[in-house]
Amino acid sequence: MTKSALVLGAGGFIGNHLVNYLKELGYYVTGVDLVHPSYNESVADSFILGDLRQQIFVEEIFSKVYEEVYQLAADMGGASYIFSGKNDADIITNSSSININVLNSIKKFGRGKVFYSSSACVYPVYNQKNATRPNCSEESVYPAKPDSDYGWEKLFSERLYLAYKRNYGLDIKIARLHNIFGPIVVWNNGKEKAPAAICRKVAQAKEGDIIEIWGPGTQTRSFLFIDECLKGIRRLMDSTEAGPLNIGSEEMITINDLARQIIKISEKNLKIKNIEGPVGVMHRNSDNRLIREKLNWEPKSKLNDGLKITYDWISKEVTKEQNDYHKNDIFCKHQLVQ
Ligand code: NAD
Repeated sequence: MTKSALVLGAGGFIGNHLVNYLKELGYYVTGVDLVHPSYNESVADSFILGDLRQQIFVEEIFSKVYEEVYQLAADMGGASYIFSGKNDADIITNSSSININVLNSIKKFGRGKVFYSSSACVYPVYNQKNATRPNCSEESVYPAKPDSDYGWEKLFSERLYLAYKRNYGLDIKIARLHNIFGPIVVWNNGKEKAPAAICRKVAQAKEGDIIEIWGPGTQTRSFLFIDECLKGIRRLMDSTEAGPLNIGSEEMITINDLARQIIKISEKNLKIKNIEGPVGVMHRNSDNRLIREKLNWEPKSKLNDGLKITYDWISKEVTKEQNDYHKNDIFCKHQLVQ
C-alpha cells in the first residue's frame, strides 16, 4: 500500500530534494511551504501554500493522517543571515511558532512518525575552538552555549519535541544536520551558504580574478552532500531510534581549501583574498560515532564528488543569468535607439 508523507518546508532546499526522494520511493507526498521551490515545479502529489506560524492553517493540514511527517520549515539562511544579529528576533519567533503549532496539532490529530531537522549549530562554542579536535559528540551539547540564536532555537525546539514524546507519546526522530549542500539551492539571494556562495563567486569570476572569502580562511567545517543527507534521514525514520543524532560528514576542511577545491573543479586560474565577514565558530566537524553505532550509517561519497555536481549546476545558473542580462541590455539599447 502507498505510504503517505507530509513535508513541511517542501519549497526549501532540503524539503524539495526530500519530496523528490520520497516520490522515487513510492510515497504519496503532501508538501507545505510559504513558497514554491525556486528552480523547479514540486513533484509532490499535493503542494499547499501557507504559513505554518498560523495555528488554524497548521490544524487544517494535520486534520489529515500522514504516516510520516518531516518538519523542515524554519526561518534560516547562511552566515550573513544567522550571524549578523539583525534577524535574531524573527528567527527565534518564527521557527519556534512553527514547531509549537506543529506539535500541538500532531498531539491533537496525529499518529505517525515525526522527523525534526535540528542543526550542528546547537553545539557549544567552547568545544569548537580546537582546529584538530572540535567536539560535536551528541552528549557534548550541554552545558549549552550555541553560537547563535538560530542554534538556541534549534536546541529549545529539540527539547520541545522530546518533551512531547515523553509526555504525549509522540514518535519523534531528531537529526542534527551538518552543512548540507548540493544543487537546486539558493545561490544569489543573500541566504546562500558557503558552498553555494563560493561556487557562485568562482563561476562569475574571470580568468586571473581574485575571489573574496569571509574570515581568515582557516576556519574549518564539514559538508554533507544532499543525497547522503536524505539517506541518513530515511535510515533514522526506518529505525526505532529517536535521536538526536548527527547527520553529517567527518571530512573536515578549511574554508580556503574548500574554495581551492571549487576553483580546481572550475579549471580557472583564480586567487583567494580573505576579508572580514561573519564566520560563526572557528572549527566544526560532524561526529558520526553514535549514528554509526546505532544505525550503521555513514556517508559514502567524497566532498569533491558533490562539489562537482553543485558547481556544474550553479555555473549553469550563472550563465543563464548572464545571458538574460545580456538580452535585456540589448533590448534596452534597441528601445533607446528607436
Ligand atoms: P530552506 O530555507 O531552504 O528551507 C526552509 C523552508 O521553510 C523555506 O522554503 C521556507 O519558505 C519555509 N518556511 C519558513 N517559514 C515558514 C512558514 N512560516 N510557513 C511555511 N513555510 C515556511 O532551508 P534548508 O536548507 O532546506 O533547511 C531545512 C531545515 O533543515 C531547516 O529547519 C534548517 O534549519 C535545517 N538545517 C539545514 C541545514 C543545511 O545545511 N541546509 C543544516 C542544519 C539544519
